[in-house]
Amino acid sequence: MKVRADIAELLRAGHSNRAIARQLNVDAKTAAAARAVLGLPKAKSGYRGAATPEDLFWRRVRPVDGGHMEWTGFNVCGTPSLRHGGRNLTAYPIAYRIAHGRAPEGQALPSCGRDHCVKPGHHADRADRVRAQDRAAVVRAWARGLKKAARVLERERAKADRARERERAKAARAQEKRVDYLYSAIFGAGE
Ligand SMILES: [Zn+2]
Repeated sequence: MKVRADIAELLRAGHSNRAIARQLNVDAKTAAAARAVLGLPKAKSGYRGAATPEDLFWRRVRPVDGGHMEWTGFNVCGTPSLRHGGRNLTAYPIAYRIAHGRAPEGQALPSCGRDHCVKPGHHADRADRVRAQDRAAVVRAWARGLKKAARVLERERAKADRARERERAKAARAQEKRVDYLYSAIFGAGE
């Protein structure tokens, strides 16, 4: 028997078969069968599950290469999720809250380049994204300024090169004239 991920999740979090049946709209027998498959003990009465979503979060992450973390819990529409207090929560805002000590503004989404990463600190909220765009705009403006400065420098260098070339040509002509003068002085003009 394949155990549904969300049922397994609640079983491991210590919920009773009845509580799971209620939360997930399944038969209590299904929850009981899943419990047997997973070899989990009967839920203690009065056990309310993990204290906080953060507790649940930390039980469902696994470090992976590159300093990222992957989700070992279930996904809803491809988004790492968990159940807490009878509600589906997504892992990203929880990771965001762990990293920043506040709830995200708008959606928190992975910003580290690894799909579905759940490592706290690897997410950006709407305000972060706006700031990142502003920074990118500043960098672009700065690059435009640099390009303009480079063009000005290039023009000035070309101008200086032309001026030097003119000076060299002028000096060469003067030298030629001097040689002509000496030649005629020594050997006499027209001989
Ligand atoms: Zn990451």
